[in-house]
Amino acid sequence: EDDSLSYLEKLKVLGHGNGGTVYQVRHKRTSAIYALKVVNGNCDTTVRRQIFCEMEILRRTDSPFIIKCHGIFEKPSGDISFLMEYMDAGSLDTLLKSHGTLSELSISTIAHQVLDGLNYLHSQKIVHRDIKPANLLANQNMEVKIADFGVSKIMSHSLEHCHSYVGTCAYMSPERFNPDTYGSNYDGYAADIWSFGLTIMELYVGHFPLLCPGQKPDWATLLCAICLEEPPSLPESASEEFQSFISCCLQKDSSKRWTASQLLSHPFIAKNHVSEN
Ligand code: ATP
Ligand code: MG
Repeated sequence: EDDSLSYLEKLKVLGHGNGGTVYQVRHKRTSAIYALKVVNGNCDTTVRRQIFCEMEILRRTDSPFIIKCHGIFEKPSGDISFLMEYMDAGSLDTLLKSHGTLSELSISTIAHQVLDGLNYLHSQKIVHRDIKPANLLANQNMEVKIADFGVSKIMSHSLEHCHSYVGTCAYMSPERFNPDTYGSNYDGYAADIWSFGLTIMELYVGHFPLLCPGQKPDWATLLCAICLEEPPSLPESASEEFQSFISCCLQKDSSKRWTASQLLSHPFIAKNHVSEN
């Protein structure tokens, strides 16, 4: 009934992204707080296609581990707005900046939720393609959800979709840079797991794991770190379970990488969540 933009009052800007701004908004009648992502409609066809792809994915998903989308609005101006669930603790990268590193127990709890989300997406044949700390949102209840489907693709018919060059390169898996493997048998699901592994590792070490702290990412260094060097591993201070978990995610050979469903039963996740259903 009252699903119109006029019912919403903008409170503040939460952040800026590619071609869009995210506002905190309040529903005037119910006082409920939401996040509203407004994307400029006057963009080129690639961006527009990306937006509609995001819409379609959000419409299809229904998981407690994926950011809920309550409505999509198109203004005559061409602007497109997404009314989303508001996450009051922000993204994990801002959380990392304010808290420094996280404990293994917190990381295990976060990893569990993100894996549940990834397991759900992958079972729906959706590849996210942009898993990174900035795209994982948290709230005060320590709930963590996957956001930002701007570059994800529905792999329903053809894997060719995955060839379009988008996403955050730093978190991209080795096979995406290899013309021999980045072909018809390219496994987008496994690529999500690589990005997930780097993200989880970052929560422990406090910086992007493929570079030294504070090091500026340039192409040569990044490509060398991703494709030529051994995958990064956790410092000795981490438990054996955690070290093993990370190495299951960061296998350079994508066929050796564990799936989301397999990782959910890894001891690092399972030992802390015995009685959950
Ligand atoms: P990109 O466009 O490349 O994805 P981005 O992730 O920074 O970049 P957005 O996804 O548009 O861009 O989000 C911008 C910022 O707004 C996020 O980093 C986050 O801090 C904040 N934000 C986004 N969605 C929400 C939400 N549902 N609740 C709270 N904050 C949010
Ligand atoms: Mg984003």
